[in-house]
Amino acid sequence: MSDFDYDVVIIGSGFGGSINACRLSAVGQRVLVLERGRWWKPPAEPNNPVNMSQFPPNATPYPRTPEDPWVWSPSDPAQHNGWIEFHFWPGMAVATAAGVGGGSLVYANVSAIPPAITFQEGWPPDITLDTLMPYYELAGQVLDVQELPDNQLTRRFQLVKEAATAIGDAELFGKLQLAISFSDQWNYSIPDAFDNSNTHPYVNQFGHHQGTCVHCGNCDVGCQVLAKNTLDLNYLWQAQKQGTQVQALSQVSHVAPEGDGYRVFYSTIDPADSTITPGFSVTGRRVILAAGSLGSTEILLRSRDEYGTLPAIGSALGGQWSANGDYLTPAWYGRRQPPPSPTWGPTITCHIDYLDHPPEEGPRYTIEDGGIPPAGRDWLVQAIEVEEEKVPFPWNLVLQQLANLVNNDNELQRLMPWFANGVDAGNGVLELKDGQLFLDWDVTDSKPTYDAEIHKQVQLAHATGGSAQVPLSWSLLHWLITPHPVGGARMGTTAANGVVNSAGSVFGYPGLYVSDGSIIPTPIGINPSRTISALSERIAALIIEELNK
Ligand SMILES: Cc1cc2nc3c(=O)[nH]c(=O)nc-3n(C[C@H](O)[C@H](O)[C@H](O)COP(=O)(O)OP(=O)(O)OC[C@H]3O[C@@H](n4cnc5c(N)ncnc54)[C@H](O)[C@@H]3O)c2cc1C
Ligand code: SF4
Repeated sequence: MSDFDYDVVIIGSGFGGSINACRLSAVGQRVLVLERGRWWKPPAEPNNPVNMSQFPPNATPYPRTPEDPWVWSPSDPAQHNGWIEFHFWPGMAVATAAGVGGGSLVYANVSAIPPAITFQEGWPPDITLDTLMPYYELAGQVLDVQELPDNQLTRRFQLVKEAATAIGDAELFGKLQLAISFSDQWNYSIPDAFDNSNTHPYVNQFGHHQGTCVHCGNCDVGCQVLAKNTLDLNYLWQAQKQGTQVQALSQVSHVAPEGDGYRVFYSTIDPADSTITPGFSVTGRRVILAAGSLGSTEILLRSRDEYGTLPAIGSALGGQWSANGDYLTPAWYGRRQPPPSPTWGPTITCHIDYLDHPPEEGPRYTIEDGGIPPAGRDWLVQAIEVEEEKVPFPWNLVLQQLANLVNNDNELQRLMPWFANGVDAGNGVLELKDGQLFLDWDVTDSKPTYDAEIHKQVQLAHATGGSAQVPLSWSLLHWLITPHPVGGARMGTTAANGVVNSAGSVFGYPGLYVSDGSIIPTPIGINPSRTISALSERIAALIIEELNK
């Protein structure tokens, strides 16, 4: 009998956490998942035929009204422990999720596989597209990825295709793989097309109730008909059936070696009376950090620098952080009929690929159609209010403008949010400053990528009669916002150039792993969740190999 409370303690329940929980509990490991956020479930809405009985009784409905818990505040989680976290640092704002299922709850469902060239520089030699492909495919099966059906093309999809054709890049245009369930019986001409009653309830491959997409546009604020194939409905649901325990509202501070395993220290959060209670701990033979690029890096920094419990972690920790080159340029289409209607349909469905060429041939990036959740305005307003003192200029103005825009439906329908991911310089540094996580970011070396993306977005807008307006936050100040943070605890070949090896194992600490976006060593220039999933499937497979020795 093991001396440890669990065989495996996993910190965080996003892509890395859920995948490891599923695979390791399948081979009989006793697994605990500690997640800082809440359990969430769809709000009760009329005409929704999907069976919601499988969510825990204490799950919070996805936020919809101004009173709901929208924001997770990194500096005051006792008071604000909601749906999405914003960090505002000089030059860079970062959005990440908080909840059981991690980023899959809030994400736009894009499940993309980058080209082979992505892995040519900066990665350990055994990580290539070929070695990862079986794991990309495995994750794709579990996440049940699909493309937007031809009978459901959105107005934005048609606009991006038209724009790519107009500038001679039609062969670079394509559909993206999406973790969304579609029914070919749905189309835009059926009566009350967006109404919940038009979803088709079904039971997924793991036995969880779901529905199919009704193009309501709310992907980033939670899918009320469960058409998004989120982790709580597949990997994590299966993990629980195999005995994994998921403990929500448990925020980990640090990790310390204990015997030939580790002790994980955490606080519990009670949203009902806005309190945090520290002083809890649990032991595991193996510990897997899966708290995301910011979360896992912060736990390792605190363990090394604040608590002194993991002193051997090297100087690579916190370095080579990337915003994945994300940029959004809004364009107005005053005369276009029908208008782009960014609130209709899944948030992102297609792309124009400027990623698949060697760096010598110029900046590498992808252009995508952005969308705006109709229920998202209160999220922006609350972000400004909750973080009022800390939202620096110009973010307060940018967020306020966006909130006003979402509030004016006529104006909003004419808007096309041209989105981009790209290969930035990947040279941000995460550190602890005055007891808080801080990002040291200098845009200088990344400017060519952002300039190329914005130039292309403006060109695509003009080619289709749109008027692109590059926000002053870029043209004057070069400040950025990203939902795609990667890096911080990067993979390497030695402790001198990495925090973990290519199997996710922390250098100098056997049995301690990192398996999430923090281990990605270079920007990948496309939405990262599928790559995080493939790396995590591989890490779990290698741990199982070790267990079988
Ligand atoms: C609005 C939005 C849209 C996005 N759209 C896409 C998309 O379409 N496609 C795509 O590929 N990516 C998208 N992303 C990014 C994607 O969500 C992330 O890349 C992905 O979720 C990262 O996976 P992960 O496993 O690294 O961490 P996460 O999924 O972020 O999971 C980390 C988990 O750890 C928890 N945690 C953090 N700190 C602690 C702690 N101290 N103790 C306990 N738990 C902790 C968090 O609450 C979270 O649940 C989007 C992100 C946002 C915000
Ligand atoms: S558009 Fe997004 S939120 Fe709406 S039904 Fe489809 S997947 Fe769900």
